[in-house]
Amino acid sequence: MGTDPDPAPGTSAAGPAEPTWPDPDCPFVGGGNSPAWTTPVTEAAWQSRKIGDEVDYYKALGCPRCSHNMVVFVAAGAFRGAEDRGVVATCNCVEEHKGRPDGGKGCGYGAWIAGPGEQP
Ligand SMILES: [Zn+2]
Ligand SMILES: [Zn+2]
Repeated sequence: MGTDPDPAPGTSAAGPAEPTWPDPDCPFVGGGNSPAWTTPVTEAAWQSRKIGDEVDYYKALGCPRCSHNMVVFVAAGAFRGAEDRGVVATCNCVEEHKGRPDGGKGCGYGAWIAGPGEQP
């Protein structure tokens, strides 16, 4: 307690990206969320892979915040239930971020994004 500087309060509105992004050395922020993170992750194209009679979907991209590789994965068959409410995407890079719980992944940022079912 007390050693971490407070994050700047609500940089709110407009900016297409947080001014310091991407920052590979950013600290872990559990439950972090920002339009600057959500938008590029949402817009990254889904790729598909056929597994038997099912198809699974994934998208691999650089995290908008930490720039490390992350993957959003929807298991075969699971996307049917995700069509309406979307998919949870979270940064799951394997690089280190200060303050992350042991065994954790990513920089903490995540969001609900549109699922693969919404694509033609
Ligand atoms: Zn990272
Ligand atoms: Zn990240």
